[in-house]
Amino acid sequence: VERFPLPTETRVMTIANQKGGVGKTTTAVNIASALAAAGLKVLVLDLDPQGNASTALGIEHHADVPGVYEVLVEGKPLADVVQRCEEAPDLWCAPATVDLAGAEIELVSMVARESRLQRAVAKYLKGLERAGERRVDYVLIDCPPSLGLLTINAFVAAPEVLIPIQCEYYALEGLSQLLANIELIQEHLNPDLSVTTILLTMYDGRTRLAAQVVDEVRQHFGPQVLRSLIPRSVRISEAPSHGQTVMAYDPMSSGALAYLEAAREIAQRGVHETPEPARDAAVG
Ligand code: ADP
Ligand code: MG
Repeated sequence: VERFPLPTETRVMTIANQKGGVGKTTTAVNIASALAAAGLKVLVLDLDPQGNASTALGIEHHADVPGVYEVLVEGKPLADVVQRCEEAPDLWCAPATVDLAGAEIELVSMVARESRLQRAVAKYLKGLERAGERRVDYVLIDCPPSLGLLTINAFVAAPEVLIPIQCEYYALEGLSQLLANIELIQEHLNPDLSVTTILLTMYDGRTRLAAQVVDEVRQHFGPQVLRSLIPRSVRISEAPSHGQTVMAYDPMSSGALAYLEAAREIAQRGVHETPEPARDAAVG
């Protein structure tokens, strides 16, 4: 089995795009599974009340299961809610349950409302270190399709942002709003934040439009865009109903191989080699 390089320190990446259905969750769970299969320890934080990442990773997330809601709103330690996923030896997930939908409102009046996730993650990583347990190599945060307080918490908790972009007409629409928000967070809450990675998803090689979108995105963002393209694939869309990522469901399918390649690129680029974002890119 291929091993990917260990990052010099824990890499925390937020997977965000306020548009729904662009492949955020699919990207989070499949990159996580691929990294874990390559020998890395990976934690997925499910910040979407829909709990799609929890479902795809095959972990319990009914209303009574403690998850990200308890961490953010009740101050429960992350260590008390993470569950081990069956797919890989060191793949973990903090689940989202339905009550997380209320957190968006409940957080508004709370102290340090934007940095509660960041504190919880820092405490968790410290705790592992103190206990002499294995370090987490990657924390991947799956965001809901909005720019509310849950997503803001993710931006404050992570230095890196991964934006999945669907290869379709209007792909760049709304991105300027996302980038402006990221810039605001950078100015006020997390100076280390930057868009390090862009992944093109649902690529359909038969259409000229998809190729045009790829060109356009590469022109705007340059080296941040991964070389790997994720194809539109039925196997990818089938996998969640089996409580699996496509990496486990059909590892030799085109979708699984593309996610493996994308994960390899992410691991090989390393946190310090990723390019500066083209922040003035006029998009959308
Ligand atoms: P988001 O989290 O951004 O809302 P999802 O990852 O849930 O998006 O993807 C939206 C839908 O598209 C899901 O039903 C998912 O299974 C499907 N999907 C995602 N990526 C692909 C792909 N490459 N090929 C086919 N279907 C995909
Ligand atoms: Mg999602």
